[in-house]
Amino acid sequence: MVRAIVGANWGDEGKGKITDMLAKESDIIIRFQGGSNAGHTIINNYGKFALHLLPSGVFYDHTTSIIGNGVALNIPYLINEIQSLVERGVPKPKILVSDRAQILMPYHVLFDTYEEARLAGKSFGSTKSGIAPFYSDKYAKIGIQVSELFDDQVIREKIQRVCEQKNVLLEHLYHKPLLDAEELLETCRQYRDMIAPYVCDVSAYLHQAIADGKRILLEGQLGSLKDPDHGIYPMVTSSSTLAAYGAIGAGIPPYEIKDIITVVKAYSSAVGAGAFVSEIFGDEADELRRRGGDGGEFGATTGRPRRMGWFDAVATRYGCRIQGATEVAFTVLDVLGYLDEIPVCVGYEVDGQVTKDFPTTVKLEKAKPVYTTLPGWKSDIRGIKKYEDLPENCRKYIEFVEKEIGVKITMVSNGPGRDDIIFR
Ligand code: GDP
Repeated sequence: MVRAIVGANWGDEGKGKITDMLAKESDIIIRFQGGSNAGHTIINNYGKFALHLLPSGVFYDHTTSIIGNGVALNIPYLINEIQSLVERGVPKPKILVSDRAQILMPYHVLFDTYEEARLAGKSFGSTKSGIAPFYSDKYAKIGIQVSELFDDQVIREKIQRVCEQKNVLLEHLYHKPLLDAEELLETCRQYRDMIAPYVCDVSAYLHQAIADGKRILLEGQLGSLKDPDHGIYPMVTSSSTLAAYGAIGAGIPPYEIKDIITVVKAYSSAVGAGAFVSEIFGDEADELRRRGGDGGEFGATTGRPRRMGWFDAVATRYGCRIQGATEVAFTVLDVLGYLDEIPVCVGYEVDGQVTKDFPTTVKLEKAKPVYTTLPGWKSDIRGIKKYEDLPENCRKYIEFVEKEIGVKITMVSNGPGRDDIIFR
């Protein structure tokens, strides 16, 4: 039985917390896309952790954590992340890395940084983790697959090809030091030795696991609106954030994904540039940012303050649809307990017309929010375990959102901890 845990919004919905929680009853947790450019914050009995590359199931000793072929694999980063868990008392996790995953090279990070600097004010707000250059190379067929590390001839030819192409850009576009093939070969040899203990044919492993009835979680990074095809292109990430891609990025049949748990945040937050219709500013935003998440809405990877906004029903309904949501986990609801009333964006006004359909980016840039205001509940809902025990206005907020997005909210998260969850 395969379940996907994915985001309906711009990321940072609290997927990590939901994954960590559901991992308790799972055997295998898989990262299938993205890289170390986003983080999941997890709070459990070992402490508070920001994971970037490892799936959020690594804290249990009964789980196997997998880096699928769809991930941008930063090898030293992965090794450090494993090391840092072990240093803090977490039992050494069982980790498998796909032999078909591709490797994020140091030059990807350089190119990301150089390009952001070149674009200056018109940049995409990249985290400079090398993700866009990595996926560009993958599809330009000059990426390096894990399996290639183990063949000296293949890797030498690949590096040669990379250097020929990259050095033209480095010299003439960026005016930066050139890549040295011998140095890169040495890096690849080091990477090979670091990753060797973890490498396996992940797709074959999962084929058997599915046949054996194992419980498998696919953990998405970022959310629907950052998907390169269906999101707010070009202010998107470089790999698909959708549950459907879980089949490709892990190497399993699409029909095996039976449940798509789509994580929806009770208000909006976003990092990086791009249209954000229900965005709020000034003191109103500062207060929500300060109270948001666990200890404020600041990027887990970059520490950047997140952009804040009210709940956007137009974007979220679309985000759920494009994920194929079968159920919704509604998170960080406790944060809204301070508000007298809560605006919810229920429509977009574009060129004088109100729509409930999420438009393409060109139109999105012109959209103005249409708000409905719901009464707040003015109390702290943390610690509540039963849905009926939530304040009436809080339940009304949940039920209003549920009706707007058209997907059943089966879980309500009312705190950052593993047990802060209300099942409906
Ligand atoms: P992810 O990338 O989707 O896993 O999300 P992040 O980890 O970046 O952001 C979610 C933040 O909200 C983290 O700091 C979590 O600890 C926190 N969080 C998750 N669920 C809840 C919740 O229900 N209430 C509160 N207050 N914080 C939560």
